[in-house]
Amino acid sequence: MARVETVNGPVELEQLGRTLIHEHFRATDEAMRFQFPHMYDEQAEWEAALADANAVKGHGVQTIVEPSAMFLHRDAAFSKRVADETGLNVILATGVYTYDHLPQPLLNRSEDQVTEIFVHDIETGIQGTDIKAAFIKCAADEPGMTPNVEKIHRAAARASLQTGRPIMAHSRPASGTGLDQMRVFTEEGVDPAKVQVAHTGDTDDLDYIERLLDTGCWIGMDRYGLDIYLPTEQRQATVLALLENGHADRMFLSQDWCSTLDYFPPEIAEQLAATAAANWSMTFLFEQVIPELKERGVTDEQLDQMMVENPKRWLA
Ligand SMILES: [Zn+2]
Repeated sequence: MARVETVNGPVELEQLGRTLIHEHFRATDEAMRFQFPHMYDEQAEWEAALADANAVKGHGVQTIVEPSAMFLHRDAAFSKRVADETGLNVILATGVYTYDHLPQPLLNRSEDQVTEIFVHDIETGIQGTDIKAAFIKCAADEPGMTPNVEKIHRAAARASLQTGRPIMAHSRPASGTGLDQMRVFTEEGVDPAKVQVAHTGDTDDLDYIERLLDTGCWIGMDRYGLDIYLPTEQRQATVLALLENGHADRMFLSQDWCSTLDYFPPEIAEQLAATAAANWSMTFLFEQVIPELKERGVTDEQLDQMMVENPKRWLA
């Protein structure tokens, strides 16, 4: 039977159960926290992660896919501690989360040399542990497919070809990066069915989404609560339209919640939490989104497809 790597070793796909495909127990800048640790509160971060893990468990979630990579402070030991404390499965990635910047060690290496780094995390383990990456993460955002971003995409593609592991690609629908990302993966020979284009739910442009689906990829409707990119009502209408068009077997529902996020100074973070991200949490799906989708005709079967079956199929 097929198995998937978690922070506690391989788990049967059948054991994953209800899965959130895109959440972060901590998303901070690793250089900032190494140089200026006085700005960070480890104990508060741990408590926030634990509170969220327990809260989603209360909604029947058994597995969290945590697509943190380089520059999002991926920390295998921290994620394992969350899993050990709560019994959740936590699934980690390898990769680089950059919109353009690369540090010298990556600038001065070829695509194939970067591929080797990713393959190490998949075959040997992450950060000196025996925790193996289950997928590869990369990102394209406002700057688009710059040479540095393309290098990471090609390395991700080659690591996928070499190991059979799927890819999750952070995208920016506002500038249509998803299609460009799929072009690069396809040029490298990756089976589109291995690729999940994250944050596709940040747009309600059905024409763009259908064109993306035509490439054969998966799409993440994975930022519920981030009204700053698209309000909930538009996210709901888009998901309903895509379900109507028969795409339940290609979509994931998630929130891209970060139990800790260091992007903003406290006063701005508080302002955002009161306005453009007022509903954003790791449980918003269960408290409001899913009950509302059900009221509007979405079936339990469709929800299971998106939250149980699709994660298994993509990770397999
Ligand atoms: Zn994310």
